[in-house]
Amino acid sequence: MSEPDAAQLNQQWVLARQPQGGLPADGDFIWQETSLPNPGQGQLLARTIYLSMDPYQWVRRRSGVEVPGGVCHGRTVSQVVASRMPEYTEGDYLFNTNGWQAYALTGAGITEYGYMHPRKLDPAAAPLSTAIGVLGMLGLTAYAGLIVQCDPQAGETVVVSAASGGVGQVVGQLAKLAGCRVVGIAGAPSKCEFVTNELGFDACVSHLQEDLSTQLAAACPDGCDVYFENVGGRVFEAVLPLLNQRARVSLCGFISQYSNTSGGNPRDVWQAAGQAVFDRQQVSVHDLFVGNFVDAYQDQFLAEMGDYVRDGRVTYREDRWEGLARAPEAFSAMLQGGNFGKTIVTVAAENT
Ligand code: NDP
Repeated sequence: MSEPDAAQLNQQWVLARQPQGGLPADGDFIWQETSLPNPGQGQLLARTIYLSMDPYQWVRRRSGVEVPGGVCHGRTVSQVVASRMPEYTEGDYLFNTNGWQAYALTGAGITEYGYMHPRKLDPAAAPLSTAIGVLGMLGLTAYAGLIVQCDPQAGETVVVSAASGGVGQVVGQLAKLAGCRVVGIAGAPSKCEFVTNELGFDACVSHLQEDLSTQLAAACPDGCDVYFENVGGRVFEAVLPLLNQRARVSLCGFISQYSNTSGGNPRDVWQAAGQAVFDRQQVSVHDLFVGNFVDAYQDQFLAEMGDYVRDGRVTYREDRWEGLARAPEAFSAMLQGGNFGKTIVTVAAENT
């Protein structure tokens, strides 16, 4: 094993405090430089290449799962620079959880894996960044919520919110492959155009329009059979009256509520708002947590989605931010719709 360069410094974003407000603010994060750690027995040191920006990271920070003083959590594509794990060698590419830092240890005694364990990546099989996007947690979330939970049938209408984002763009394309009519809901007109023109959705409505409900109803002349919920709030209110008998809903996220500082548990508020319609229409609501699908579905998902991505049946758009220093900025933008596609911070070049 070659030793890490002792003169090299690590760069990190540390959570300064439990966030006070609804959106990230100056003072929530601290930049620091520390010496590089040496991997112990059963550990490896990897340099971060791509860092994933995800809404759930904000939920962790606001709820206190992430403790002030710790390096911010984040899933990554990285490359092994020194290894004392027999199954990994220097130069191997990994999907892992380095967090918001340039280098990190993985392996024995490192508990940041959560439900996704380190996985070796083949750079010839797919672009490396897809491991934190369409071929990673986001893709599996779309697959699990749409295909496994909602079982869309040809001819049915599928509606998906945050349609141009990391999860939404995959949901809509999978629904098209299943033969459905697909209607997206997104913000900026450019996002709606992308969703219809580039991704092939049948229609897309902007939630920035005053008459969102009217426009959505016009885009769904046969109602909605499957709703993939990413947003909640006003967007959900527009979808609710369109739900058909025995419609299925995958309850993936409520990003419009993640910056709320009052108003109760968003899951409970959402359920209460929909309950009368759910009862009348016999709607099945499926709570979605991607971690519950990793063991049973990840291999099947990677095989199917890998083929779709390689042969171009599923495409994807990434929103890249250059440099670890920009992570808080990228994160904040993503939470407010300032991203266009899956948000990724490029921390270092793929090849050194
Ligand atoms: P996206 O790439 O979709 O980025 C977030 C998008 O949300 C923004 O681009 C914006 O799109 C939209 N948005 C933000 N605020 C609002 C608002 N107030 N009203 C309407 N839209 C808003 O993020 P992801 O693909 O990473 O995540 C999408 C959803 O999936 C999130 O709710 C996330 O929590 C959830 N998720 C859940 C998982 C699970 O296991 N259940 C796993 C992974 C993600 P626009 O500009 O178009 O409005």
